[in-house]
Amino acid sequence: MASTLPVSLEGIRAAARRISGRVIETPMMQSPSLGDFAGVPVHLKLEHHQTTGSFKLRGATNAVLSLSPAERSRGVVAASTGNHGRALAYAAKAEGAVATICMSQLVPENKISEIRRLGADIRIVGLSQDEAQLEVDRLVGEEGLVMVPPFDHPAVVAGQGTLGLEIIDALPEAATVLVPLSGGGLAAGVAAAIKGVSPKTKVIGLTMERGAAMKASLDAGRPVQVEERPSLADSLGGGIGLDNRVSFAMCRALLDDVILLTEAEIAAGMRHAYSCEREIVEGAGAVGIAALLAGKIRSGGPVVAILSGRNVDMEQHRRVINGEAAMFGEDGS
Ligand SMILES: *Cc1c(COP(=O)(O)O)cnc(C)c1O
Repeated sequence: MASTLPVSLEGIRAAARRISGRVIETPMMQSPSLGDFAGVPVHLKLEHHQTTGSFKLRGATNAVLSLSPAERSRGVVAASTGNHGRALAYAAKAEGAVATICMSQLVPENKISEIRRLGADIRIVGLSQDEAQLEVDRLVGEEGLVMVPPFDHPAVVAGQGTLGLEIIDALPEAATVLVPLSGGGLAAGVAAAIKGVSPKTKVIGLTMERGAAMKASLDAGRPVQVEERPSLADSLGGGIGLDNRVSFAMCRALLDDVILLTEAEIAAGMRHAYSCEREIVEGAGAVGIAALLAGKIRSGGPVVAILSGRNVDMEQHRRVINGEAAMFGEDGS
């Protein structure tokens, strides 16, 4: 079964060799307080300390390094304004390639200047993410740029999978690995790596209750759209693509479970990360801790939670830490 999936353990090992030295091998840290709480050892994979502030650099770097010299000289393009946009800008610049990031006119100036500072060409077009994506399609069709999507691409999934290899190499006895889940590139890659090395280790996807597109798609048996709503875990927003080709099939084959979290639970995860672990994580990066604290994880052995990113607006982070109204909707208080 697993051998017919678009990304194999061998592909992930090749990605690890390719990106070695270009990304940080992030540390794992045991959390005594979460371990006491869960009744089994809990380890935190501190991937929010990755260059550019999230694991997205792994996939973006592997994708850029996998291009032919001709493709690389034409440049790469994406429409992401979040962690993928930052990562692709950084990865392209590191290899001497040009990244073009398309954004709508509604994207705030601080996000634009951050990505520009990382060396990308910025195209401001239209009033929505969809219009920005149309500009990406035009640049691919008319100017030959190469699109590097945020999750649904074999080289991106293989790059994210290197995070799973690091986890299972460091802790072969891991019983359960908790993975933040949106489009499923991270979960697909990590699960392929973990299951490839240790088939009995459980891999669980974690996402917010509000707008969980992969969860709805897994339940429906095919990619479906869900209404997008604001969440503290903003990096987990967005759909999986109705024409999804890689990450959906892999998540369906490899994930043992998907668990949903309320806004209040995600906020509690961020607070625990800060107050007890001394770590600043964004909402998406806190879902593993959130699920443990909510008592939603049952594991007979060591648990690893991936802290996937730290790119949170610091004013919002302060409000969450202080328990001020920073959440969305009635369930959040
Ligand atoms: C993109 C992202 C995720 C989700 O990754 P997918 O591959 O889309 O499932 C989780 N956490 C952070 C911080 C991210 O930037």
